[in-house]
Amino acid sequence: MDDKINKITREYEEKRRQAFSAAVSRKEEIYARLPRIREIDEKLESTGMNAIRTYLTAGLDKETLKQKLKKENQELRSEKAALLASLGFSPDYLKPVFACPLCEDTGYLPDGGRCVCFRQRLIDLSYDASGIRQELAIKSFDTFDAELFSRKIMPGMSITPYRNMQQILAEMKAFSQAFPHNNPHSLIFHGPPGTGKTFLLDCIAKAVLDRGFTVLYLTANQLTSAMEEYRFHRNPQETEKAGMIHDEIPRVDLLILDDLGAEYINQVTAADLFECINTRILSHKSTLISTNLDPEKLRTTYMDRLYSRFKGSYRFIRFFGPDLRTRKQ
Ligand SMILES: [Zn+2]
Repeated sequence: MDDKINKITREYEEKRRQAFSAAVSRKEEIYARLPRIREIDEKLESTGMNAIRTYLTAGLDKETLKQKLKKENQELRSEKAALLASLGFSPDYLKPVFACPLCEDTGYLPDGGRCVCFRQRLIDLSYDASGIRQELAIKSFDTFDAELFSRKIMPGMSITPYRNMQQILAEMKAFSQAFPHNNPHSLIFHGPPGTGKTFLLDCIAKAVLDRGFTVLYLTANQLTSAMEEYRFHRNPQETEKAGMIHDEIPRVDLLILDDLGAEYINQVTAADLFECINTRILSHKSTLISTNLDPEKLRTTYMDRLYSRFKGSYRFIRFFGPDLRTRKQ
């Protein structure tokens, strides 16, 4: 893990260096066009020194001096803003632009904690090999095509798969926008394969990531394998990633567990799964799960106490319709 942290720290140093050097270039360009701005900047920078000098020579009392300087600085700033505006630039044009306004690309928040961008970078780096990020890049609510879903009513159903999907889509867009203030904040997508569950999970993951939250995306199998690896250290190449997953379970903003029920299930993995689901609920964190199992099958496959957790804290969302993956081929 230290390797990755060092790598990211270097990336951040480079990002900050670039942000500052780009700001310097902009400044030079502007100074060349409007030398008055350079004068203003120099005056603003020397305010402290001037204050002491004025204090000593003019004998003003502290409060009067403070007000006087404040007024002067404000005037200088508005003059500068007006000059920049005359060239069509915003007042912030000469300031460095950071990729993350929260930590200004230091990776740390003012309280000393790691910034959310840093933690997400760590998650991403651990997943680079898995291809999940590349997949997310092409999936979004905009590319989700509800037209693919059948407009025929299936036996026993009151609405068409198309109509169902339209409703789900609208709800999930709203869910992503309201994130993390949803109630309930955890969902189970259940239904047969090829009915759009995973695609929709990807869309939500992307929308939530784009809003600056951290997202950890795992298959149920990756989760249980990671927990096993975390305990037993069988595979040195996987230990670091397992540690990261273990640490992020209680704190990542959104945990996505894809394909629950496809993992190898025994008492140990079932206990790990319960632990993870329960931890998320106790820490009031959002978890999204997809499964091909229907609720009854979920109940019989997992321990009662896990199922009752789902019942108590999750909303079940049903997907149905013909398998899109076979239809497309
Ligand atoms: Zn940040």
